[in-house]
Amino acid sequence: MTNKTGKIYLSSPQFTGEEIEFVNEAIAQEDIATNGVFIRQFEEQLENRFNSPYAVALNSGTSAIHLSLHLLRVGTGDEVICQSFTYIATTNPILYLGGTPIFVDSEKDTWNMCPLSLEHAIKNRLAKGKKPKAIIVVNLFGMPANWPEISRISRKYDIPVLEDAAESVGSKIGDRFTGTFGDLAIYSFNGNKIISTGGGGALLTNNRFWDKNARYLSTQAKLDFPYFEHMEMGFNYKMNNLSAGIGLAQLAVLDERIERRRGIYDYYKKHLEMLPGISFLKEPQGYFSNRWLTTMVLDPSMTGFQASDLRELLLSEGIESRFLWKPMHLQPMYRSASFFGSETAEKLFIDGICLPSGSGLSNEQLNRVIHVVFRLHKEVAWNAEKSV
Ligand SMILES: *Cc1c(COP(=O)(O)O)cnc(C)c1O
Repeated sequence: MTNKTGKIYLSSPQFTGEEIEFVNEAIAQEDIATNGVFIRQFEEQLENRFNSPYAVALNSGTSAIHLSLHLLRVGTGDEVICQSFTYIATTNPILYLGGTPIFVDSEKDTWNMCPLSLEHAIKNRLAKGKKPKAIIVVNLFGMPANWPEISRISRKYDIPVLEDAAESVGSKIGDRFTGTFGDLAIYSFNGNKIISTGGGGALLTNNRFWDKNARYLSTQAKLDFPYFEHMEMGFNYKMNNLSAGIGLAQLAVLDERIERRRGIYDYYKKHLEMLPGISFLKEPQGYFSNRWLTTMVLDPSMTGFQASDLRELLLSEGIESRFLWKPMHLQPMYRSASFFGSETAEKLFIDGICLPSGSGLSNEQLNRVIHVVFRLHKEVAWNAEKSV
């Protein structure tokens, strides 16, 4: 899909060649549905690889979030505190359940939920006599959130946390993997994530009851009867066997994928950080990011150009880039929602840009991206000189 003269995409999936073996076997065995043999294997590998007592393979990260909030008993009129700086898949499931999101700003060190603003939000809601039902924290672009502080606040106020680790599969703090910090956590294996099953996700927890219930509810809440007997509403959310087979092949090379994504971050940083007004998010002490996407932040007063100028020039060269997520509290659909914090997420949205980061990209392709940044930088410097 990408070559020297061709287009460069933001985050294309990369295959090992083993995926097709699993898919062929599933078809040969006529075992393609949501009770196939690869599904439990994939779940066991997730459990072992990330040291999570229970993993349930589902058909998307979004359905994993919906199911998690359902397990946390979020219902009509309940408030859920949520990181504003995220992709909309994090927050829409709150609405599916008739809940109300309360948005919280990010901190500068991780770009994820600011613990001070979180505590401010909780105190405000408690003072209004409304205890939030859950907190959703995201590990954006692969960077783990400030889990020591978030977990402390969650315990202090006795509010459970859902960890959205869709973008941070394989990231960790110390030896502990993201996906094990929240009371419940989710991964996504969608098409452009660090490893992919086409579409897919997982729910992780250390709670046996939630694991059992997630399995039950994700398969239409069927009871163990000789006919179809149902006591409550369920969902059709289980992963299918074709996807699980692809997942087994992909999970086997996760370490290589992370190494390459981290290498891409290092390469961009090494070649671009020297330019005035360009910076990259660093890992706090003890943090390990899978560097799903390399993100660059501009200070337009020093670069002389904006993120939008760079995005357009890259596009004209056949290179896909992307703004950072537009915060949820600035989205038209959430305009009436409460927000706690200041302008950290908003500034990142305005001045940040995601660079092509697919693990299949070659250094030659990265050089093309780097050259465009240098070109824009020189043009601006040249124009500034002329106008003196
Ligand atoms: C991708 C993503 C999701 C949703 O995953 P899907 O598998 O696409 O439904 C949720 N949250 C974040 C932060 C994501 O990036």
